[in-house]
Amino acid sequence: MIKGIYVHIPFCSLKCPYCDFTSITVDNQNLFKEYIKAVLKELRMYRNWGFNLQTVYFGGGTPSLLPPEMIGEILEGIRNTVKSMPVEVTVEVNPETYRYQQFKRLRESGINRISIGVQTFQDRMLKMLGREHSVKDSLQAIEEAFDAGIGNISVDLIYGIQGQTVREIERDLKILEKLPVKHVSAYMLTAYEGTPLGQLVKEKRYFLPDEETVNEMFLIIDSFLEERGFLRYEISNWAKTNYQCKHNLFYWEREEFLGIGVSAWSFVKSKRFGNIKNLSIYLKRIKENKKPVEFVEFIDADEEKKEKIFLGLRLRKGIELNLVKGKEEFLKRLENEGLVEIRNGRVCLTPKGVLVSNYISAELI
Ligand code: SF4
Repeated sequence: MIKGIYVHIPFCSLKCPYCDFTSITVDNQNLFKEYIKAVLKELRMYRNWGFNLQTVYFGGGTPSLLPPEMIGEILEGIRNTVKSMPVEVTVEVNPETYRYQQFKRLRESGINRISIGVQTFQDRMLKMLGREHSVKDSLQAIEEAFDAGIGNISVDLIYGIQGQTVREIERDLKILEKLPVKHVSAYMLTAYEGTPLGQLVKEKRYFLPDEETVNEMFLIIDSFLEERGFLRYEISNWAKTNYQCKHNLFYWEREEFLGIGVSAWSFVKSKRFGNIKNLSIYLKRIKENKKPVEFVEFIDADEEKKEKIFLGLRLRKGIELNLVKGKEEFLKRLENEGLVEIRNGRVCLTPKGVLVSNYISAELI
């Protein structure tokens, strides 16, 4: 049964130099309307699949480039098509886009969770990231969303920016702790190939902090948040009690979810499949009443086991010990080095273990 629906909104007002998500820079209401029609038509192509819908997640791109009414229209269309009421509906919001009135209208449309792309509370660092918004925008967006009745607010942070210091991370966290925030996602800045940032790093015109500094930043974020009641339930995500992101947990726990829209991914009936990344081709396919899928991977038993290890280790609760039979000696060594904990028949990563999670996963797989 499909438990979550992801809706990709592929529009941004500016392309950030580090971004490798599928998005185009456009602000055209007619195109937005055409796109909404297309995603709802795409969803209807799956209407006979089994749904037990609990979450909807609007990601992007910049979903908040759309007026709240349009997001409400998609949500309404989803509810009518799958005939169920999701309990968690998240919209990703850029800090410079929505204010009190828009948040209120979002709330009235049934959206009960927002994820704000704050990235950093230092204007100097926002410039280094090439972001459009200011720290003032972020503070205002968080405050006004909360006042408008959205109590479940998540913020995204980025660490490992050129010139960023450990002090600045600490300052970010001190600002954060005073805000009505229930969930934090913190990601290390990555210079993906094919992005302007990737190119700058390659040409040695942008310098990411060294590994030791970035690791220190992660450990500071982790201990600061944990001490203040935000539990790290996944490698990059911390939440107050009962505020874990249900939708994202479905990904890591390998529950079935459907992604609609350009470049959206799905996992249903042991298959992972991805949509076309080009907007015009996507719209054309939908017009022709064809599913816009361009990639399908069948997950066999072997692949399933690998996924269970890789995804499960990202979670705080870890994986069942019997999934990695034969690796006892390796695990004992990791335990002695303080990289994993083994208890109640489960293996989980310690904060130090998180820093080498890729190595540990690869060895266990
Ligand atoms: S706003 Fe988000 S999705 Fe859009 S370009 Fe920037 S990082 Fe990418």
